[in-house]
Amino acid sequence: MSDEATPLVVAVVGAGPSGIYAAEALTVQSQLPVEVAVIDRLPVPFGLVRYGVAPDHEAIRSIRHTLERTLAEPGVAFYGDVTIGRDLVIEELRASVDAVVYAYGAGSDKRLGIPGEDLTGSLAAPEFVAWYCGHPDVHPDAHTRPDGGSAADHRLADLVTGATSAVVVGVGNVALDVARVLLKTAPELAETDMADEVLESLAGKQVTDVHVLGRRGPAYTAFTTKELRELGQLPDLDIVLSAADLELDASSEAAVGQDKVAARNVAVMRTWAERSSTGASRRVHLHFWTRPTRILGGDRVTGIELERTTIGPDGFVEGTGELTEVSAQLVVRSVGYRGVALPGVPYDASTGRVPHAEGRVIRDGAFSPDEYVTGWIKRGPTGVIGTNRSDAVETVRSLLADVDAGRLVARGRSGRLEQLLTGRGITALDLPAWRRIDAAEVALGASHGRLRTTLAHRVELLAAAGTSAED
Ligand code: NAP
Repeated sequence: MSDEATPLVVAVVGAGPSGIYAAEALTVQSQLPVEVAVIDRLPVPFGLVRYGVAPDHEAIRSIRHTLERTLAEPGVAFYGDVTIGRDLVIEELRASVDAVVYAYGAGSDKRLGIPGEDLTGSLAAPEFVAWYCGHPDVHPDAHTRPDGGSAADHRLADLVTGATSAVVVGVGNVALDVARVLLKTAPELAETDMADEVLESLAGKQVTDVHVLGRRGPAYTAFTTKELRELGQLPDLDIVLSAADLELDASSEAAVGQDKVAARNVAVMRTWAERSSTGASRRVHLHFWTRPTRILGGDRVTGIELERTTIGPDGFVEGTGELTEVSAQLVVRSVGYRGVALPGVPYDASTGRVPHAEGRVIRDGAFSPDEYVTGWIKRGPTGVIGTNRSDAVETVRSLLADVDAGRLVARGRSGRLEQLLTGRGITALDLPAWRRIDAAEVALGASHGRLRTTLAHRVELLAAAGTSAED
């Protein structure tokens, strides 16, 4: 058992919802005193709540207020702008604290593995989402361009403004987010907290048609029904889908029989199939039993080749050989996120996750005594924000059980991480720094009649925090 007076010092790597829910689970328990350092490589906390949840979903984004309350708890400290691998290595972190909880999410994307995937105009949804959410990785600081922009954000801006027709591959919630952002008008998007430069680019877009592709039938979508319905509520938008696709085969009938969400989604789409065209200026085309086989174009995307699919005898999707083409200047693959390796942390490349059992990290085939994992890097990129809360509770339950069993011990390491960083001249951004950034974003928004405006560049965030990129 730990000495009651000696707090267990825990570092959480990642200040997204999964990391902050782990900090919350550690602070609400009364079994032992804890100190929690929540570390993030970005200057700001909240991870996917800020950089993944669509800007027009303010109700979900407002979860940040709850997350912020956890960061403000006594015994919890935020360490922003601290990068594992640059500022300190995992072994140094482990030596500075009693336990580490990895909660660094799934920072990459999945590929389709088809010809043309690297053409200009073909991109991964996570990159597009990061762009419209104002993520500093996609809005790098520009020191050389006279217009103050940077190469990456100009590339994405050009792609969006140059497209009239776009294809989104995949039928999950991210595909819906991408489709909505591509279709919404400038005044609709101005109600969000998007960065000014993103809003300007999106205001210049001329997208009239978005084609969403499901490789299986409408009974097998990954949408949540609320998000699907929202698409049908957009004004001046026709939803185009084939009534024949909504006639379910036996296996689809069985799927909707077992899955209430699938049944509700099919019911929503049936109401859409009954609507006649209103001649709206924007259209979403929902294509089912369709997979992309080739992205077309010379150096830029001009279209996509699609193949009709069916379920084969083995139960897997297979092509029928029936090909069609859709004209498009933008192809966004929205087929899921993927976890990446963090140097020094166990990683299973076959799953894109940290190997674990109930949140206890497995290192070299055995439980590591002081390493835990939660969130997308633990279970894969699934579920809604709240799923990370129960996930974090499971991980912290394992950690507390290990303390109880004497496998994890408080060793009087309070203040060591701070000493290590200070000794290296590293000034982490703390919660008051975030609050200064928050105030600056609200003030910037208010200066042009918006609720807030996201600062997309790292230099802007550091300036608002009252520090500079050189510090
Ligand atoms: P997702 O829910 O896993 O959906 C991925 C989609 O891509 C599925 O339709 C999948 O089809 C398809 N797909 C995968 N590989 C494919 C391929 N090679 N070719 C064609 N299609 C392929 O992933 P996501 O949309 O990125 O969302 C990630 C998580 O965040 C989900 O849990 C989601 O619910 C959540 N999220 C929630 C919200 C919200 O609540 N508002 C918003 C955004 C994201 P198959 O089923 O056939 O594999």
